[in-house]
Amino acid sequence: MKVNQNLIRVMNVQTHSYETQRMQRFIKKELAKQNLGHTKDKYGNIYVTKGDADLYPTMVCHIDTVHAINNDVQVVQLDDVLLAIDTKTKKRYGIGGDDKVGVYITLELLKQFDNFKAVFFLDEEVGCVGSSKADFTFFNDSTIVLECDRRGYNDFVTSISGTKLSNDKLHNDIDYILDKYNRKKCIGGITDVGEIADNNPVQVANMSCGYYDPHSDNEYIVISEVESTKQMCLEILQETADKRYEIDLDKRTTYGVGYGGYNAYSARSWGYDYYDDWDNKPKHKTKNEALHNTYADSFKTTAECPCCNASEVWFDDYEQQFFCLSCHTYVEIDDNNVNIDAEYMSTITDEEYIETDTLLYDASFNQEAFKKDVEPKLLNNGI
Ligand SMILES: [Zn+2]
Ligand SMILES: [Zn+2]
Repeated sequence: MKVNQNLIRVMNVQTHSYETQRMQRFIKKELAKQNLGHTKDKYGNIYVTKGDADLYPTMVCHIDTVHAINNDVQVVQLDDVLLAIDTKTKKRYGIGGDDKVGVYITLELLKQFDNFKAVFFLDEEVGCVGSSKADFTFFNDSTIVLECDRRGYNDFVTSISGTKLSNDKLHNDIDYILDKYNRKKCIGGITDVGEIADNNPVQVANMSCGYYDPHSDNEYIVISEVESTKQMCLEILQETADKRYEIDLDKRTTYGVGYGGYNAYSARSWGYDYYDDWDNKPKHKTKNEALHNTYADSFKTTAECPCCNASEVWFDDYEQQFFCLSCHTYVEIDDNNVNIDAEYMSTITDEEYIETDTLLYDASFNQEAFKKDVEPKLLNNGI
């Protein structure tokens, strides 16, 4: 089975909620290779606009995974499957297809279009923390917004938590593509496009994209399903490239009639929520954990935050601005008396993401045992 090397490269990047620096760095390098610039919002989400047009096909993804950073992990290919193992323990480790598959598809589709927009959100897995702080005006000139952030293969999500993501205007134009790729419309769990739908009239969709058993050590991806999802997104975005698809914000609610009028908001507070590929409510991070949410190319300083007085002010070298990890916002500081907190920085090892010529681990372990584990779950989609 041939595999796009870029898929393996993305899968080899270790990234975790609040610890996404390596993936940020990886994405910046990939964008630079495509001669593309980017901007960041106050939270650190990465925005890309390619070309100069009235309307842009748009993709989003999230760059964190639930799996802790582990430098011993490497990707293994077994025919149509990519999985990850800890080369020290020889045990399976979650590959992080949720949502590195989304990152891969977004980066690849950027190459396919002259005009395109993309957003790489931080920290979805801890409650859409990044996308909830997004600049939603960015999507004012999007045709539609797609996200690939759901387990399995066959789903095309049209509503989340009582919020309608798309309607027949879009469905009539793309149903033939969904049929071709065996996609069924369904209700999905919370992810970044739900945040967008609550804040911008643009029509959005989430879809399954070939990862399985997310949030577990056994997580793996099916290469052919990732590739056909990528191809489907390409066709949908091409088919819809010349117009803007909207639903008025006040018509987004799907539970308005017949359920005692409870709306998207109360559906959430009633606990009907679940996170896509996520079985529990998000964990709330303490401030100390948040401290590790440092950004690529940034340094802790000795400054105190003028808003909250916390000594958690970092200098964002890319934005050339100070950022308080306690307030989670950029702050104005007179930099005359500010130094890098060298003592703290010396405790951070500069571990680059793994990018080698030998991208695939030489699988000197019991492949048959892993195959038994994976194969019964593979879907035969006939593509
Ligand atoms: Zn996800
Ligand atoms: Zn997830």
